[in-house]
Amino acid sequence: MAAPRVTVLGSLNTDISVPVPHLPGPGETVLAAGAASIGTGGKGANQAVAAARLGASTRMVGCRGDDEFGGRLRAALVAEGIDVTGLRPVPGAASGLALITVDPAGENAIAVAPGANALAGEEEVAAAFSAPCDVLVLSAEIPVAVLAAALRRANAGGWKGEGGAVARGERRRMRTVLNLAPVPEGADRVLAGRPAWLVVNAHEAGVLLGAEAVDAAQALAMAARLAAGETGRGASPGSPADPGSGAGPGDRYVVITLGGAGAVLAGPAVAATISGFSVPAVDTVGAGDAFVGALAVALASGLDPAEAVRAACAAGATATTRRGAQDGLPRPAGVLAATGYRWPEIPD
Ligand code: ADP
Repeated sequence: MAAPRVTVLGSLNTDISVPVPHLPGPGETVLAAGAASIGTGGKGANQAVAAARLGASTRMVGCRGDDEFGGRLRAALVAEGIDVTGLRPVPGAASGLALITVDPAGENAIAVAPGANALAGEEEVAAAFSAPCDVLVLSAEIPVAVLAAALRRANAGGWKGEGGAVARGERRRMRTVLNLAPVPEGADRVLAGRPAWLVVNAHEAGVLLGAEAVDAAQALAMAARLAAGETGRGASPGSPADPGSGAGPGDRYVVITLGGAGAVLAGPAVAATISGFSVPAVDTVGAGDAFVGALAVALASGLDPAEAVRAACAAGATATTRRGAQDGLPRPAGVLAATGYRWPEIPD
């Protein structure tokens, strides 16, 4: 068996983080308690790094600026062995940037400038389908039109092999995983494109359905409603107006992540609560991205849906035991050490 192949179509940001004694108010300048740290992040890039560290042959597709930050974002992915041929430097654009202030209690205030991420378009959709993959991750910090177009394309036949011919076997195997974090304006339009998998956290599920779950049983009921195609915003996923081979109402898998409590999964012939792994969590930043990247690898490796979610929970839990977003993303040995979960064997 060849290595599982994961493509991520999503965002890249530079995270500039400043430790402050208290979060600045309007008009206030606060002197930092220490040096600023500059890291690479963005949900798409984090998910790609998570997938690569867990053994997938990974491609990152998205936009960066042609500035110094853009060069660093690219280099960080290359250092992880990620294929960046689908990463486009946009002339004259600034790279995505997150300015983060963190107080001593860990509370933060963040301003994000999407920069080049907002310029992703048809070119990125084409790049996402220019090479085969088993799982295509679509993450929501890029324009909804791009996510919707990618789903349309996936449902209409996936990637085109050399010479432009659609490889039938490949088409059957490719699955889409949509992570609506955060839930964008126009989410209904994206859901109507029938992703095979939808992953959201409890808050995002609440935004989609109008009320947040208070426990796992309620979350499971909400996941089942989302799997059946319902959203509180009147979407009709899988409507006849959007024909194709993707997941229709009732044949989509939906995961709602529940922090330390794990996750729930609803979909065709499955309704499961997957308990969280008990770990000494020090920083939950990046747990969701570790979860999504890991889920993609697990599905691409052929794990069944419930086992894939369990594997993703183990990776998410491990990410909380280390500080930092990309820095904290685990490898199989780290997952085993932190949770006791043995990551599936991946061939070279
Ligand atoms: P997000 O970071 O997107 O808000 P969650 O907080 O739900 O997402 O975390 C994603 C996954 O990471 C969870 O489903 C769980 O498996 C794991 N996780 C998060 N926080 C913890 C924790 N404190 N202990 C164990 N696992 C955790």
